[in-house]
Formats: sequence, structure tokens, C-alpha cells
Amino acid sequence: MEHRHIRNFIDGEWRESLSGDRKAVINPATGEEIATHTNSAAEDARSAIESARKAFDGSGEWRRMDAQKRADIIFKIADKIEERAGELARAECLNNGKPLREAEADVSDAAHCFRYYAGLITKPHGSVYNVNESFGKMRSFTVREPIGVCGLITPWNYPLLMGIWKIAPALVAGNCIVYKPSSNTPLSSGILFEIFDEIGLPRGTANMVIGPGSSVGTTLAESGDVDMVTFTGSTEVGQDIARRAAGSLKKIGLELGGKSPNIIFADADLEGAVEWAMIGIFFNQGEVCSAGSRIIIEKSLEKQFMKRFAERAEAITLGNPLDNPDMGPLISESHMNTVLKYIEIGKAEGARCVCGGYRYTEGPCASGFFVRPTIFDQCTPDMRIVREDIFGPVATVQTFETEDEAIRIANDSEYGLAGAVFTTDGARALRVVDELRAGITWVNCYNPCFTEAPWGGYKKSGIGRDLGVEGFEEYQEVKQVNINLTPGPIGWY
Ligand code: NAD
Repeated sequence: MEHRHIRNFIDGEWRESLSGDRKAVINPATGEEIATHTNSAAEDARSAIESARKAFDGSGEWRRMDAQKRADIIFKIADKIEERAGELARAECLNNGKPLREAEADVSDAAHCFRYYAGLITKPHGSVYNVNESFGKMRSFTVREPIGVCGLITPWNYPLLMGIWKIAPALVAGNCIVYKPSSNTPLSSGILFEIFDEIGLPRGTANMVIGPGSSVGTTLAESGDVDMVTFTGSTEVGQDIARRAAGSLKKIGLELGGKSPNIIFADADLEGAVEWAMIGIFFNQGEVCSAGSRIIIEKSLEKQFMKRFAERAEAITLGNPLDNPDMGPLISESHMNTVLKYIEIGKAEGARCVCGGYRYTEGPCASGFFVRPTIFDQCTPDMRIVREDIFGPVATVQTFETEDEAIRIANDSEYGLAGAVFTTDGARALRVVDELRAGITWVNCYNPCFTEAPWGGYKKSGIGRDLGVEGFEEYQEVKQVNINLTPGPIGWY
């Protein structure tokens, strides 16, 4: 891919930041620069907010547009994503480090997400209520309307998909948006906005500003001209955004971190449980918010499970993501160092490192940010590696002897994003799922995620939902309309 420069997209124009500042975009598999992006500041964010505000409050062309016409435009975006699928997948692979086949699957999901929401806008919505007659005969109904200007802030682990989970429903609902992708991974977002430019969304409807969270992100969170801020990322930043958003009492959506339990009972299908546990913690290099990072296994199966789990983790291949190894590099040198630091903490805390536990620099991985898949057993509930969101290929293993104990260990976390149970006893599976304090649960599988179903967390894992009908309604206001069916005085005054 030729070296690119990615600019902001504001008020229908490609713009440099007002300061003219630029920053390098790094390929994490090699450490080399593959692109630059305009490095924006608060003033650029303010100009994008102004553009979105003008588009929403001024002509209001997008929000007033016939729903079918709006849907037709969104369907065209999905078609264009498919036309440029190869280019998008390659950009995602080079910029994020995920294996190419995973990037291809993300691009396919991205097109599907636009189509799903485009279909939804033309379906019935709102409700009619049979209200009591204390004010005379009335009919009450609700309509759904766009919220206004939405600020969307996303992380680097699924650069395209995390953006589209928010962009698609926000736009389809008729909002105007200011999107801030992670400045680590702006490549695929640059292509997405080229598509928006080509399709010709009304001027100012979709704006993109690339820059640090500490200036661009905080401006979106604080601005009184932004009606909603929705964020995917770490819990600490989510808390900061909630505090800043409180000043204008704007609506917030937060998809945050996790430390999700994967409970395996002795009656589970062993090979299935091992493979799904690997998908749970090593897929996307473990840089998955819902990763099954805490494996909680019934004591009587521990030895057998650990033998297979470690053997298979040892066999995982690392390499150039374009060659489709099992795993690619972590996103950046600093994130790799954080993960390596946690591995050292785990060792110092007395957990046993069963496999991995180091930076991998063999062959094509010499200068990239690769960490071998790492498993710790003999873990206890107080260890930092058991409690904190590492966001890398590091699994901890704890054991239990009773169902109640398994549930207690699983729920012993400040997070509540996801969790899974492996058992061939159907009633037990449902009992455990009922008790898990988590927004996403799986039985005999780990990590499948569907555009059609809501995604989000309990506890410190977030507020609100992405995806599904619920993820559409997040971007809508509900207006109540009451109609007097017998106009005239009612004799009160
Ligand atoms: P991060 O929180 O550091 O950054 C996420 C985004 O927020 C980036 O665009 C960043 O520039 C911006 N940002 C940073 N500080 C900000 C501030 N003060 N105000 C406004 N914006 C700010 O997260 P990350 O390192 O990019 O991603 C990893 C984290 O994201 C992990 O904790 C992971 O669990 C979480 N995550 C959650 C989900 C989910 O659906 N729940 C999905 C993916 C990632």
C-alpha cells in the first residue's frame, strides 16, 4: 500500500488541522511508518461540531429526508464498502496487526451493519397508547426522532467495526455526527469517509476529526453543542467522559473494559472447551473487550484441560498479519510493554506461567510488537492479573469445586461485560447464565457477536448498548404526542 496521509473531513471538505500538525501511523508488525494523519486539537473538534450543528439545525436535510431515501443512501455505503473490501481489509490488517482473514471478516460485518440499520429505519417504530379518560377522550402516541449532534469516540482494536457500530445507527436515525477514531488506527476510517464523500451525504452530516483523546475527545465530551457522546474504550476514560458530559447533561453511551469469566465444568466437551477458550483469549491478539481472560475450571478437569490448552497455545503461530498467521502483533510498543509488565506482575504475585510470557522476535517478528500467548495457572482472586483488564493474550486460570463457587468467582469483578459457561447439562447452563452479572453470555462457545443482538456491559463495563434494535434506539429521542379527540372545554375553569 502506498504511503497515505489522512486528513480530517469537516463540512464536506478534506482539511488539515488548523495547526498543520501531522503524526505518523505505525505498522505494529514492523514498527515502520505506513502513513501520516493530521493531528488535530480542540479548535478542529469545535469546527467539526459547528459543521454538524449547522447541518442539523439549519437545512436539516438529513433528518428531514424521507426514510426510504435515507435508507437508499446507506445501502449504497454498504455496496461501496464491499467494492473496496480488499483495500479496507488490507488497511485494517497493516494498521491494527490483525491477521488478514480477521480483517476481511470485519469488513464484511461492517457492510452488514449498515444494511441492517438501513433496513430498520423503514420498519414500524413508535407506539400508540390507550390512555385513561380523566382529561376527556385522548389518544397518545410516540414518535422517535434523532438526538441531534452525536460525538463518537472509538478505540483501535476493531478500528472500522467499532466506528461503524456507532456511525451506522447514528446516521440512519437522522443524526449529524463528529467521529473521532483512535489516532493509532485511522487508515480504514479514512477510506470510509472517502466513501461518504463519494456518495454525497448532505454537507456537514458526517465529520471526522483525528487527534488525541485529551483534546479532541474531551472537547466532544464537554461541548454544549453536542447532544450525545458515545464512547468505546477503557473504563477510566469512560469515567472521565461521563464527568465531562455531566456539565451539559448530554446523553452518554459507554462500552468499556472487561475481565470476563469463562467457566468450564468437568462434564464439558473437552476439545470444544479448549478451542473456544483459545478463541476467547487469543482471538484478535486478546485485544478484545469481551475476551475470556479469566478461565474458571472445575478442579477434577484441571489437569486434562491445562495439558491440552497449553499444548495448543504453544502451537499458535505468530507472523506477518498479511500471511494469515494465528496471531499478529499487539497494537503498539507502549501497549506491548504494558502487557509484558502485567506478565512480570503475574510472576511476582506467585502465579505459574505455563506457557508464553515473553516478547517474540523470531523471523518476520523481529521488529514488531509480538507477545507469545500466555497462560497463568495457580491464580488467586486478589492477584492484579486476575482483577485488571490487560487487553492482551494473557489468560489466568482459577479452579472451583461447586457450581456456587464457580458463580461466586465469576462475579467477583468490578467489570460485567461478558461471560461463558461450558457444560453438557442444559439446566445447569441456564442456572449459571441467570446468575452471571454480565451483559453478554455464551453457552458452549465464546465470543460470537451478531449485528442483530445488543452488545454492552453491566457494572463498570458500561452504560447502554451497541447493535441490535437497542443500539438504534440509543440514537433516538422519544417524543410523546397527545391528541384530544373531542376538542372543546372540559369545564375545569
Ligand atoms: P482508550 O480508552 O485509551 O481510548 C479509546 C478512545 O478514547 C481513543 O479514541 C482515545 O483517543 C480516546 N480518549 C482517550 N482519552 C480520552 C478522554 N479523556 N476523553 C475523550 N476521549 C479520550 O482505549 P484504547 O486503549 O483505545 O482501547 C482499549 C480499551 O477499550 C480496553 O480497556 C477495552 O476493554 C476497551 N474496549 C471496550 C469495548 C466494548 O465494546 N466494551 C470494545 C473495544 C475496546
